[in-house]
Amino acid sequence: RGLGQRFRAGPVRLFGRTPQVVAVDEVDLRIHEGEVVGLVGESGCGKSTLGRTMVRLFEPTSGSITFAGEDITHVRGKRLRELRRDIQFIFQDPSSSLDPRRRIGSLVAEGLEIRGGIPAARRAEMVAEMLDRVGIDPGMARRYPHELSGGQRQRIGIARALILRPRFVVTDEAVSALDLSVQSKILNLLRELKDELKLTYLFISHDLAVVHHVADRIAVMYLGGIVELAPAAELHRRPLHPYTMSLISSIPEGRLAGTEPHRTVRVEGDPPSPVDPPSGCRFHTRCAFARPERCATEKPVLRQLGTGHSVACHFAEEIADGTVTARSAPV
Ligand code: SF4
Ligand code: MG
Repeated sequence: RGLGQRFRAGPVRLFGRTPQVVAVDEVDLRIHEGEVVGLVGESGCGKSTLGRTMVRLFEPTSGSITFAGEDITHVRGKRLRELRRDIQFIFQDPSSSLDPRRRIGSLVAEGLEIRGGIPAARRAEMVAEMLDRVGIDPGMARRYPHELSGGQRQRIGIARALILRPRFVVTDEAVSALDLSVQSKILNLLRELKDELKLTYLFISHDLAVVHHVADRIAVMYLGGIVELAPAAELHRRPLHPYTMSLISSIPEGRLAGTEPHRTVRVEGDPPSPVDPPSGCRFHTRCAFARPERCATEKPVLRQLGTGHSVACHFAEEIADGTVTARSAPV
């Protein structure tokens, strides 16, 4: 399908920081219309940078971003402002993005006011409708953010993002600040709204169990690159990258319904600094399967190993069939 989002080939550099960090490197990600793509990885791996770049909050230093067939890599001014309606962002902590002095109704209406041309009565109607859709009693429009619970505030964050009827929505750690029980309610709401409003999502989280709950496909990111990409069910049934295996191993039992027990794969040590990433496979300093002669020198590329399933590991086949085994103890 021609619509949807495509992000190709970094690197994305963050300016104004010393030293300059390559936050995203050589990523090629296509998101089809109506799809939920989950982006998972530990903090600092570049997933937020990738998400913000895809919606042009950042401009990439190289590569290109295509949205609904249009190259938006370097758009500016009026076109960029128009694009802001089609593409919205739901941030991690709604309480920090909600002005505490403004009422709920006015917070949700903000996008409509900026856009202009909609009479106040119609705006109020649209706000009431949107509040109702996200499960907030429209009668609460006169309340202030501090009068709401964390889950209610995130519903307001969602209403603010969706009031302009975007087509593509990036959510970044949208439920991370919430209790588990509230998390699943918000995740279900996001799924429902996707179908009702015909949305497409890039869903970013450090928590693979959360991503699994909503995503059709999952991209696993490590130190600025995508190391595995697969349909969600396939990724859990047959993870091919040792880093993905370690993420699945670390999920407490019972949080991933419908998956079979996996072998336990541990990752060694802490993530290296993205300022000076390891040579060869960036994961080799922490990989229990690493064969240094190859892994420390040659960079693995993302290659397809099954329908819609890609992995960036030199030994993916051998690890899957048991010819290459994990070291028993960290070295
Ligand atoms: Fe591990 Fe080597 Fe595969 Fe990288 S390429 S994930 S270091 S086995
Ligand atoms: Mg982040």
